[in-house]
Amino acid sequence: MRAEQALAKLKVKTVRFDTGVGGIADLTPEDIAAGLAGCEPGPYYLGLYKYSGDRSVLDVLERYVFAAIGNLALEKKVITEERFRLMAVYLECWHKGKASPLNDKQRNLCSTLHQLARLLVDEIHRENRCRTCKGTGLYQYRPCRGCNGSGRKEHSAREQAKFVNLHVESWLEKWQPFYTKCLPLLYGWEQIVLGHLQRKLYDRKEQELANALYGQREQTATGTSG
Ligand SMILES: [Zn+2]
Repeated sequence: MRAEQALAKLKVKTVRFDTGVGGIADLTPEDIAAGLAGCEPGPYYLGLYKYSGDRSVLDVLERYVFAAIGNLALEKKVITEERFRLMAVYLECWHKGKASPLNDKQRNLCSTLHQLARLLVDEIHRENRCRTCKGTGLYQYRPCRGCNGSGRKEHSAREQAKFVNLHVESWLEKWQPFYTKCLPLLYGWEQIVLGHLQRKLYDRKEQELANALYGQREQTATGTSG
């Protein structure tokens, strides 16, 4: 079983390894948390939030997203170094839970980026499959244009603008192009999470299953000969 399939089941809290062979436990949120050990912080919190159902990590996840998009914005020259430093001040105050010393204009900019981080988390958390490619990301053997190959139907521009508290026009003109650049970063985190869980949980489970089957066969062989 692929991690994606199993985790999709976990989301409705009905995950079971119906293997037909006894002794293989169901996967619990604690298993997910253990499977994520060793992941870098951003993907780690994303994995906890999305797959173990731990809502308490949302704030810290959003801070990591905020920091990551700050780095990306600087790298893509969407913001100046000065504004990047403002983001750092804002982030530190957010982390410590105290009021930031920024003026209204500076705070507005950071609030927009804060909302943008939240929108990204919201986007990655949903399982809203693209209708064109049915969530596969491929349409007629090519990356699906409806979802840019992500397999997911994104919020409409109007919904996005509303989420970030901006008029659609300024969202489309100023922020949406950057938001589109941020999405692959989050999808990348998700791939890290799934890869990690695949290795740590499913490959191990499959090994257990193989051992169980192998053990059974051994027993049968012994039974026949003896
Ligand atoms: Zn699609």
